[in-house]
Amino acid sequence: WPTTNTRSYDVAVHSVGKIPLGIKRKGLRVVVTGGAGFVGSHLVDRLISRGDSVIVVDNFFTGRKENVMHHFGNPNFELLRHDVVEPLLLEVDQIYHLACPASPVHYKFNPTNVVGTLNMLGLAKRIGARFLLTSTSEVYGDPLQHPQKETYWGNVNPIGVRSCYDEGKRTAETLAMDYHRGAGVEVRIARIFNTYGPRMCLDDGRVVSNFVAQALRKEALTVYGDGKQTRSFQYVSDLVVQETIDPEAKIEYRPNTEDDPHKRKPDITRAKELLGWEPKVDLRKGLPLMVSDFRQRIFGDQKEGAT
Ligand code: NAD
Ligand code: UDP
Repeated sequence: WPTTNTRSYDVAVHSVGKIPLGIKRKGLRVVVTGGAGFVGSHLVDRLISRGDSVIVVDNFFTGRKENVMHHFGNPNFELLRHDVVEPLLLEVDQIYHLACPASPVHYKFNPTNVVGTLNMLGLAKRIGARFLLTSTSEVYGDPLQHPQKETYWGNVNPIGVRSCYDEGKRTAETLAMDYHRGAGVEVRIARIFNTYGPRMCLDDGRVVSNFVAQALRKEALTVYGDGKQTRSFQYVSDLVVQETIDPEAKIEYRPNTEDDPHKRKPDITRAKELLGWEPKVDLRKGLPLMVSDFRQRIFGDQKEGAT
């Protein structure tokens, strides 16, 4: 993230599919919690390629060694099996805190958001490291403002089935800002919107990974509710997925989950202004990359399974 900025905190910046990394620097010591996961492992690739020494801390709850295996043997890379709900002592310059069961099927089981974030903020405070929290568009709940700006406070049901994630991330943001105000920790908060791509968990219940895996396995595509919900990739993605893999794919309608946001799309004006950031890979380019990764993982080398 930007390093020339003299202010210690920038207003949260929306990010669709990519964490803004800002100016290239050499030789930082960096911890990436959740670095064996989908987003984390891509971040690790980026940090290693810019010359940082990276320690991945992951309990492999949803992450996989395979996602970072290509760095094994690199002296700038270390992998620690550790649950961030337990404290951790390390000396680093920056902490990217991603560890969190991020998909609806996983996030109900774990206090990672609150306790893990508290531990990592404590670490940041003790060693004077800069801290980045990967928050989520879910902090807006089922938004009443569209598209969503950073200044919008959201519409979250505090006692609903999704609230452990939504409120967990909101609490994580609160903790980050309290550590900033109270202890001078430099913090960054990236509210990430629905992201898809290679290395995503195959069966984590998210819409793009579900549709890609279902289409490859010749199963019906499961549409929850009436299928009119939108996300930052909008529901045109439903159509594009089907076209890309199997135009004949069947569709199965299922009841939607409670409190599912109806409409969601980021207003990225500030990200463009402050970071010069905007997404570059559209669905038609990105989806085939994800499809070939999923095809490889589902069918391995068996060509007959592929379409
Ligand atoms: P992921 O499940 O692939 O990665 C999460 C990683 O955290 C996994 O490697 C998992 O093993 C690890 N982890 C979970 N609990 C842990 C714990 N207690 N201790 C140590 N490691 C732990 O999910 P992802 O999609 O890569 O998400 C990464 C981050 O980005 C999360 O914080 C998530 O909330 C945020 N995010 C992702 C999206 C998205 O669309 N992918 C959207 C919004 C926010
Ligand atoms: N969804 C769907 N079929 C699926 C999985 C999800 O229709 O197999 C819907 C879901 O109800 C939601 C949208 O797709 O409206 C995005 O869901 P996802 O879990 O991917 O992301 P989130 O709800 O966290 O934005």
